[in-house]
Amino acid sequence: MTDRMEKIAICWFRRDLRLADNPALCAALDHGVPIVPLFIDDQGKGDQPKQGGASNVWLHHSLAALDKDLGGKLTLFQGPAQDVFEHLKATYEIVAVHWNRMYEPAAITRDKALKQWLADQNIEVHSHNGTLLFEPWTIEKKDGGPYKVFTPFYKKGCLNAAPPRAPLPAPDELNLYADKVADATSLSDLDLLPTRDWGDMIVDGWDISEKGARERWDRFVEEGLYNYKEGRDRPSKPFVSRLSPYLHFGQISPHQLWAALDHYDQDRNVGHFRSELGWREFSAYLLYHFPSLPESNFQPQFEGFTWAKDARRVQRWQQGKTGIPIVDAGMRELWTTGYMHNRVRMIVASYLTKNLRQDWRDGLAWFEDCLFDADLASNSASWQWVAGTGADAAPYFRVFNPVLQGEKFDPEGDYIRAHVPELQDVPTRYLFAPWEAPKDMREKYGLDGSKYPEPMVDLKQSRQEALAAYEAHKNARAGAKESEI
Ligand SMILES: Cc1cc2nc3c(=O)[nH]c(=O)nc-3n(C[C@H](O)[C@H](O)[C@H](O)COP(=O)(O)OP(=O)(O)OC[C@H]3O[C@@H](n4cnc5c(N)ncnc54)[C@H](O)[C@@H]3O)c2cc1C
Repeated sequence: MTDRMEKIAICWFRRDLRLADNPALCAALDHGVPIVPLFIDDQGKGDQPKQGGASNVWLHHSLAALDKDLGGKLTLFQGPAQDVFEHLKATYEIVAVHWNRMYEPAAITRDKALKQWLADQNIEVHSHNGTLLFEPWTIEKKDGGPYKVFTPFYKKGCLNAAPPRAPLPAPDELNLYADKVADATSLSDLDLLPTRDWGDMIVDGWDISEKGARERWDRFVEEGLYNYKEGRDRPSKPFVSRLSPYLHFGQISPHQLWAALDHYDQDRNVGHFRSELGWREFSAYLLYHFPSLPESNFQPQFEGFTWAKDARRVQRWQQGKTGIPIVDAGMRELWTTGYMHNRVRMIVASYLTKNLRQDWRDGLAWFEDCLFDADLASNSASWQWVAGTGADAAPYFRVFNPVLQGEKFDPEGDYIRAHVPELQDVPTRYLFAPWEAPKDMREKYGLDGSKYPEPMVDLKQSRQEALAAYEAHKNARAGAKESEI
């Protein structure tokens, strides 16, 4: 180290792309030296997984917004994180490095190794909690093991634990390093946007910034919060927050939401919204304690279960051309907006894994690529939940009936019509099961395959086939067990 080296502290931004309630940023500023706000795009480098296409679009716009909030001082690098820190160490006297923790297996491995390396270089390093209300190692059953069922996890574990910390205000002043950091890259060089117009289409209507997150929350409080408990199941209504991508990338923190909820009547809507934040915590908790959640059936009795591998079926599901209106509406909402309503996520996931008997990992991968909020923990836990293979899962034999689901949760058909223009003029009574419409109606509206496809599979028969496959698997396992004795 030479005398000429400038002293800096580093705030390494990751899934906390905000200035308010950012413990790492506040702590980095405490060192009294200029800070370098850093973002490293290390996806696909070393053991770090790649993000899906929609996530990269969101990330691109998030970084642009954060850079603006930081007066153009966000420093970007691409490459393995340790290489970037080695490069910075060669140029600056790094007084300290701060980051907010991530909880995914590859991130934990990377961060542990980096912490050790920084400590070996005599660089102070601190991680903070900016992302979860209850960190996974703080909630355990009486016997010391992890919970596997949501209700006791949330009610006995979380709600009896120390309450989440109060959110921190955004710093009054940002003492940012004034010069450009040598060899830093530009946002366009990160190459996060797709070459197709798809990237422009899906951002329409989203303000991808910390301010956008706050405004979305305000709107939800006005329009949705007091209708949440029942209204959250109606995909055409503004009764859900659509905050999931902001929560995933950290433009808003769960601590901010949890504390904001204190200001409203603690009725069942508010309680229910808190519990949905609890599901987010539970998913992160499961992934932390069971890192194979994205790859392996959580319930071991599903090992060896035969999924009917059929790429053409998966493709028609992805394209929203299954012939089941509510399923197609959901899949097209996903493709055109980067989002899908929770009720419809459950319907399309059940249809893929039960009626089409396709592996839940195929669905997971498509969601991973197309969702703005794609989150390894919530996506894996939710897919396994619907497939019946997961923790606290709906049993395999619970197969959603997409016709009844559509009639119940989209009774006027507004959601279907919004996303499937071919069905725009179809009378509501034929909208949920168009194959049952009289022949003349089917011809008139093109429901005979000329405009809108006939169903790929018969719902009743495919349900029975799924149940039979499950029974056969169960019996084969029982038989194998008996023969072991
Ligand atoms: C098959 C499937 C895949 C899913 N994949 C993801 C995913 O990749 N990322 C993701 O964030 N959510 C996922 N979910 C959960 C849920 O659908 C979304 O969190 C929710 O639809 C987001 O919309 P919202 O912000 O309007 O939710 P709101 O109803 O407004 O809920 C507020 C917040 O609570 C959390 N939340 C709500 N429901 C759940 C849930 N069931 N599990 C975990 N967290 C929840 C989210 O952070 C959400 O933003 C998935 C659900 C299913 C059935």
